[in-house]
Amino acid sequence: MSDWIWINGETIPISEARIGVEDRGYQFADGVYEVIRLYHGKPFTLDEHLQRLERSAQGIHLAVSPERAALAAEIVKLVSRSGVRNGMVYLQLTRGVAERNHRFPSTPRPVLLFYARPLPPPQLPGEGEGVRLLALADERWKRCWIKSIALLPNVLAKNQAVTADADEAVFIDNGVVTECSSSNLFAVIGGKLVTHPVGSKVLPGITRSVLLDCAVNQGITVDERGFVEEEAIRAAELFITSTTREVSWVARWNDRYIGQARCGPVTLALHRALCKRVLAETAKAAQ
Ligand code: PMP
Repeated sequence: MSDWIWINGETIPISEARIGVEDRGYQFADGVYEVIRLYHGKPFTLDEHLQRLERSAQGIHLAVSPERAALAAEIVKLVSRSGVRNGMVYLQLTRGVAERNHRFPSTPRPVLLFYARPLPPPQLPGEGEGVRLLALADERWKRCWIKSIALLPNVLAKNQAVTADADEAVFIDNGVVTECSSSNLFAVIGGKLVTHPVGSKVLPGITRSVLLDCAVNQGITVDERGFVEEEAIRAAELFITSTTREVSWVARWNDRYIGQARCGPVTLALHRALCKRVLAETAKAAQ
């Protein structure tokens, strides 16, 4: 059902797709990507994801083609053809095949591709055991606003977390908490919702921005600032956000329990607000 891929304008079975061994994405991680959530067969916040794709591409001196509206239409078509109702679209743009050389090729032939995959239904607000975080030094580069396919530091951190019986790695940069290996982090401190600003150290998560919007709508004060590890451990609530996991409450930071060791009221209210928005924006397509 879901085994179709769109690759440079052609839709073919994924098993027939071929990438050259000299693709710069493969040899240099010279590319960017997006993960877009599908609910009821409809992409959620598609325009926001495509805007971020354009910014990421610009950050590595690549242009996105086709332009946004045409690309969105192609994604919607592929999703419909794939039959995936609840899942994700993985989209990747690389600089394409060129003779191996650090210099950009003078006439690049970028490869843009995307395909859909089903995902298990997300956890309901407040459900689950709570995420266990392992704090690790942030050893990533300083252009985290670019959604780069060069994810090795994130991959190593995630695996170190799993080896230590945790679920996710949280990065500490010079004592300041930035984000997690594949999610943004929020803390409830003194009744305010605190999260590190996006930019060199933090990816502008789409779920993050939707959640901040929900917080403002609910009259919750938002404080975008860096905070230290001790503040995080003492926070009333901690939660992480991402496209695939939506909102997950944090139960543990290393071996310390957070707050009441259950999903807190702010986390619950914001997760519910996100679910409402998802329903409002995607449920029509289900009819
Ligand atoms: N930070 C990092 C490092 C990530 O990899 C992700 C997930 N791609 C996020 C944050 C969350 O971003 P989004 O809400 O757009 O999925």
